This record gives sequence, structure tokens and C-alpha cells, in this order.
Amino acid sequence: MTRTVYVNGEYLPETEAKVSIFDRGFLMADAVYEVTSVLDGKLIDFHGHAVRLARSLSELDMQQPCSETELLEVHRELVRLNEIDEGLVYLQVTRGSDGDRDFVFPSEEVKPTLVLFTQNKPGLADNPAARKGARIISIEDVRWGRRDIKTTQLLYPSMGKMMAKAAGCDDAWLVEDGHVTEGTSNNAYFVKGGKIVTRPLSKDILHGITRKAVLRLAQEAQMEVEERLFTVDEAKSADEAFTTSASAFVMPVVEIDGVQLGDGTPGPIARRLREIYLDESRKSAI
Ligand code: PLP
Repeated sequence: MTRTVYVNGEYLPETEAKVSIFDRGFLMADAVYEVTSVLDGKLIDFHGHAVRLARSLSELDMQQPCSETELLEVHRELVRLNEIDEGLVYLQVTRGSDGDRDFVFPSEEVKPTLVLFTQNKPGLADNPAARKGARIISIEDVRWGRRDIKTTQLLYPSMGKMMAKAAGCDDAWLVEDGHVTEGTSNNAYFVKGGKIVTRPLSKDILHGITRKAVLRLAQEAQMEVEERLFTVDEAKSADEAFTTSASAFVMPVVEIDGVQLGDGTPGPIARRLREIYLDESRKSAI
């Protein structure tokens, strides 16, 4: 089935969708994005993603391409047209193009580029990888200083995934000044003595939409949560660890830098949080 995608107001077959070679998203990574998951054909935490998108755009003085209501309509229409039951909706907004390359931003009259497409992922919720748990390596965090803005500058995270793959692992955690910032495409946590520890929000990490929901649900389930800086060594000596993201929900971590956590299988808190998160997300999906 040829996917139908959305480009600047039009629904098109993916083979016919076009963006200018002068688009600043292409030339300068002058672009932000969001990924919203779909379960049972419905969007998970759409409002949270829309609010973060508005913030990313505003931090970069980029125009909002349309209202949240219009964005919701496009998301829903793409899910319908592409018959997505479980999967993802990817959205990208760029600063557009004035038909040339220049470091200076184009004038306000240049409209942002808005692109959305779906990814069909049957088995997203019942993911065998979550039953096995992820094996992680730690690498230096050399990304830019505004990781709270969800930009498309994903080269280093992509290299991090490749480093993990080369080491026979699944993903990498990034470390700056001796402390874990986050995963290549997820927020990072460890659990010790029943307490969940994760780095506090700042410009150093992306303010995960899943992070926010999971921390709220953990607290509602009477689990103890501490937001503070932590080292890889602390995580290595933890009882369990996990990551969160919109595309993998709660993913247990069973090994860090070759050190097995607990008995090497997903820990009870990560498994419970995954369950609660999926249940609650399905209930509030729109
Ligand atoms: N941190 C980084 C660097 C990410 O790229 C992502 C998701 O892409 C996350 C955290 C998790 O954010 P969310 O839960 O909103 O998907």
C-alpha cells in the first residue's frame, strides 16, 4: 500500500510529495519534529505533543504552521487514510525556503514547511524487545546545548545508535560531566531500593511527553521518584533501569556497559510501569 502523506495542506501519495532543495530543514536542520504514537487507531497524548511543538517553535522564533485543532485533524486523517491501528505519526515543521541558501533567517513572509507521515508498526505495544529488555552502552554526550528543543539535529544520536549496534547492544545513554543526560531517543531512569531516579528537566534533556506521564503514574501508584543527576556507575549498580519514549513507551534496560542489572531480565517496576502506562494511554487516547 502506498502511503498517503501530508505536505503543506495537501494529502499526497508518498511518491509525489516534494519539498524544495532550498528548504532550511534540508540545508541547516532548521526544523523541529514530534512523534505521536497510535494505539487502537487513536492518538496517544496528542495535546502534550502539540504543546511541546508550540514551545519548540517559539524557542526558535519559528512560525506556528497552523492551530492545534487543525493539526489534530491532519493526524487523524492520516491515521484513517493509512489504516493505522498501531504505529506512529511523524510531524516536522521547518523554517521553509526563500529559494536560496543563507545563514540569515528568511523574512516573515516565508511560510514554514509542514510535513506529516505515518509509520505502520503492528505489535508496537506487545513488543518482544520489551520482554527481553535493552542492552545499553554509555557514550559521551557531544550534542548542542538546547536539547529541550526537539530539533531534527539527530546525527549524533544516530551515530550513538550505530556505536551501540557495533558493540552488539541496543542503544546508548549519553554522559556529560560524569552524569547521564538521557538516551539517544529516550529519557533514562534507574531503580534502587524501590526508588525511581531520573535527571531533572533543564535545557540538557528533552522534556519527554512519556516521561511526564510515567512520573505522574508512578507517583499515583505510590512509587517513590527522585529527580536528580546520576552517574553511569550508580545505574550499573541499580536493581533495574528503563527508558521512556513515545515510540517505545517504557522499555526495560537489563545491561549497561556489559554489567547485568539484577537477574538480567526486565525488572518489576519497569514492567509494572509499562503496563500502567499502556492501560492509561489507551483509555485517554483520542
Ligand atoms: N530524549 C530524546 C533525546 C528523544 O529524542 C526523545 C524522543 O524522541 C525522548 C527523550 C523521549 O521523549 P518523548 O517521551 O516525548 O517521546
